[in-house]
Amino acid sequence: MFPSFRVSPRQACTALSLICLFWFLVAAPLAAHGDPADFDIKKLFKGEAYISDRQDIITLYKDEAIPVIDMHMHSGTFDNMGPLGREFVLGAIPLPLPDNLKEGLARLIADLTRHPYTPFVGIRNECRKAGLSAAVLFAVYTPEAWGVEDNATVIGHLDDPRNIYRGKPFFYGFASISQENWQNNESNALADLDRAMAHPKMVGVKLAFAHNVEPLDNPAFDSIYQLAERHDAPVYHHIGPSPLRPLDQFPDDAARERYIRSFYPTYVESILQRFPRVRFILGHMGFDFVDSGIDGIDEVFRLARQYPNVYLEISAFGTDSHDPDGTVMDDILGKAKEFNLIDRVIYGSDGPGFAGATEKYKDKTLASMGRVGYTPAEVRLVMAENFLAVTGLDQDPSFQLAPLKAAQVPSEDLDVHLNEVPMEHHPHRH
Ligand SMILES: [Zn+2]
Repeated sequence: MFPSFRVSPRQACTALSLICLFWFLVAAPLAAHGDPADFDIKKLFKGEAYISDRQDIITLYKDEAIPVIDMHMHSGTFDNMGPLGREFVLGAIPLPLPDNLKEGLARLIADLTRHPYTPFVGIRNECRKAGLSAAVLFAVYTPEAWGVEDNATVIGHLDDPRNIYRGKPFFYGFASISQENWQNNESNALADLDRAMAHPKMVGVKLAFAHNVEPLDNPAFDSIYQLAERHDAPVYHHIGPSPLRPLDQFPDDAARERYIRSFYPTYVESILQRFPRVRFILGHMGFDFVDSGIDGIDEVFRLARQYPNVYLEISAFGTDSHDPDGTVMDDILGKAKEFNLIDRVIYGSDGPGFAGATEKYKDKTLASMGRVGYTPAEVRLVMAENFLAVTGLDQDPSFQLAPLKAAQVPSEDLDVHLNEVPMEHHPHRH
């Protein structure tokens, strides 16, 4: 048997009791009170909760098998979250508990669900349950907001022996950079990003100007794009307000103006012009996550039609809380087809979120594609091929996506991998 997935009955029991604890303490109250729209606890208990590499879970579109890459996943812990992120998470636990108990609970949940390799509920298992072939982990430097998941931590996940799926890497990474104290720290921060981008599985740069309230049009950050150009790597910008920073929480017009410059798509236009050889991925389509009344979707489409170095990423806005009936996704995917931009649209979910949310986001996206008349070839572009093109992985002769069917992997390949796993790194024997 494939050693990465050998779990003793005792360990399985421990994991299951943690899941039950999670259900009784958090999920049940959430389902009763809070924001349950994207939550499906039944997924945890349906028997396919733990997925081995031998199991085929294939994504189908019009009866055709489609490889899927989710380009937007976050690993992390509760302790590396920033103050706004912690507040957001603690506020989502609707229990009359003192803060230190809530924190303990939040820490446990994050350890279970936001580590890539936790059995049953970790990100890799979530992705496999969703029928994905590969996924991308983002490094994040937003000390006040979601916190810091540094490049070294993500590289640790990429280099982990468990990051092998049917003989191929499962996770790739987007590295990031600290914008703190930029005037004094620019060269250190760039050196760290440069080292991270030298890693063969780091295939892009993820930036979070909105979370850091740094204006997108500030040329002081041009050195990041120069670095990306040297590495021939795409740059991902979060476009749209941060869900953690509603516009009305800024004290005055000047502060609000500065914030708008950190997320509204128009403010990337000068960068698109100055760096025509850098491929820019505009994340979230400029969707208005906080009902600020400032929606950037049309402006994102204008930029994509005008500039060939613009790519569009469709994560996060398609959840049941933001888009319950799929009309936002239908509108965006429909316009992409109408404007001949399907070869620039890239799939991502912004997961993992609640158990089952990764699969649900993918299913909702495919259902929308069906409604607006995407052909299987167009679906393949959005769900995997455009990502491989924007990162250049499709030009890398050593790159291969894991095969969709387990039977396609000769058993000798599995044995080779089996012998490569050093025992001290064995995930289930501590
Ligand atoms: Zn994200």
